Amino acid sequence: MQITARSQHLFHQARELMPGGVNSPVRAFGSVGGEPRFMARGEGAYLWDEDGNRYLDYVGSWGPLIHGHAPAFVLDAVRAQLDRGTSYGAPTALEVEMAQTICEAVPSLEMVRMVNSGTEAVMGALRAARGYTGRRKVVKFAGCYHGHSDALLVQAGSGAMTLGVPDSAGVTEHQTADTVVAHYNDIDGTRAALRAIGQDLACVVVEPLPANMGLVLPRPGFLEMLREETAQLGAVLLFDEVMTGFRLARGGYQELIGITPDATTLGKVIGGGFPVGAYGGKREMMKCVAPSGPVYQAGTLSGNPIAMTAGLTTIKALDDAAYTQLEARGAQLEQGLRAALEARGIATQLHRVGSMWTLFFSTQPVTDYATAKQSDTAAFATFFHAMLKRGVYLPPSQFEAAFISLAHSEANIEKTIEAAREALKEV
Ligand SMILES: *Cc1c(COP(=O)(O)O)cnc(C)c1O
Repeated sequence: MQITARSQHLFHQARELMPGGVNSPVRAFGSVGGEPRFMARGEGAYLWDEDGNRYLDYVGSWGPLIHGHAPAFVLDAVRAQLDRGTSYGAPTALEVEMAQTICEAVPSLEMVRMVNSGTEAVMGALRAARGYTGRRKVVKFAGCYHGHSDALLVQAGSGAMTLGVPDSAGVTEHQTADTVVAHYNDIDGTRAALRAIGQDLACVVVEPLPANMGLVLPRPGFLEMLREETAQLGAVLLFDEVMTGFRLARGGYQELIGITPDATTLGKVIGGGFPVGAYGGKREMMKCVAPSGPVYQAGTLSGNPIAMTAGLTTIKALDDAAYTQLEARGAQLEQGLRAALEARGIATQLHRVGSMWTLFFSTQPVTDYATAKQSDTAAFATFFHAMLKRGVYLPPSQFEAAFISLAHSEANIEKTIEAAREALKEV
C-alpha cells in the first residue's frame, strides 16, 4: 500500500492557489479520478513522489525526456553553461549550431526560428504561412493538438467538415473563423474540403502521427494526399512534429515515411527538458519572418544559451544506436502487453511506433478522433490506477501517448509487463 499523505496535502493546498491545483490540466488526474502524485525527484527511468514512492515513468515530462530523467551528460553541459550566464538577449554561437543541427537532420527545414514552446512554434508557423501565401484559411484535424493558441482550439463537430466552432470558453468565433476542421484519415472528405477552400487555403496543419488523441496511425495514402493537394493549391503543408521530432528518428516522422512538408514545428525533445520550440521550413517562407521580412515574431528568451545547451546535448547524443534501442524496448513491451491482453481476453487496440504507444480500451479500430472517443475510459482509469499502485506511472488519460526513454532497461520493461499482467486482472 502506497502512502500518499504529502501529495494529498499539497494537492489540497495547490487547489486553493492554482486552477485545479496544477499548471497544465492533464496533470490533475481529472480523467482517471483520484489525486495526482506530487513529484520530488527524477533519475533515469524513475520518478519519486513527495512521500518517497518510486515509479517507473512512461510520461517522460510528456515527451521531452528521451534520455530519461537527469542524464548526467546533459546536466554537466548545462552546469558549465550556467557559469557563463543564462541569457544574453544577443545572438550566440549555440543558436547557429542548433539551427545547423536541426536543419541537417529534418528534411523539410532550410531555415528555423527558435521559440519557447510548441504552442508558440505553431502560432509562428501559421503566421509565417499566412504572410507568405497572402491567404487566410487554415485546415486542422479533429483530435490533433497544436498548443493552446486561440485559432487552433477547435476540434470536431458532426459531419464530414465543420466550420470552426470554438472548443474553449474565452475563444470567440471570430478568432476561429478562418480555421476549418477536417477528419484525420478521411481521404476523400478532406480532399474535397481542400479543393472547396481552393485559393483561400494558406496552410494545412497536421500531426503526421497524431499522439494527442492517443497514438493514431495514418492510413496509407492520407498524408500523400495532403502533400499532393497542398502542392496543387500552392498552400503550405505544416507537419507539427513537436512530439515526434527527434523522438522516432533524427528527421522525425517525415524521415520515416519519406514525405517532406513545406514547414515543420518542433519542441519537446529539442529542448532537452527546458522550454523550447522551433518552426521552420522553406527558405522563401522563412524569409518572410522579421527582421528579414514583414511577419512579426519575437521572444525575450528565445534561443537562450541554457535551453540551447540542453537541447543540443540531448539531440547530438541521438544516433542510430539510440533509435535501434528505443525500437527494441518498444517491441519488447508491445509483445509482452499483447500476450498479457490475449491471456485475459480483453479487447483493446494497442498502437505503437518506436518508443511511443497507447493502449486503447476499445473493441473497434481507432483511426480518428471519433473512434478514439469510443474507448472505455472507465476501463482505462482502472488500468491506470492498477499500474500506478504497482509503481508504473502512465499518462493519466486514455488520450495521451506513453513514452519509453533510453534509460528504460530490458528489466524495466519486463517489470512493466508483469505489472500489466496483474493490473489487467482488475480491469
Ligand atoms: C505538446 C505539443 C504542442 C504544444 O507544445 P507546448 O510546448 O506544450 O506548448 C504542440 N503540438 C504538438 C503535436 C504537441 O504534442
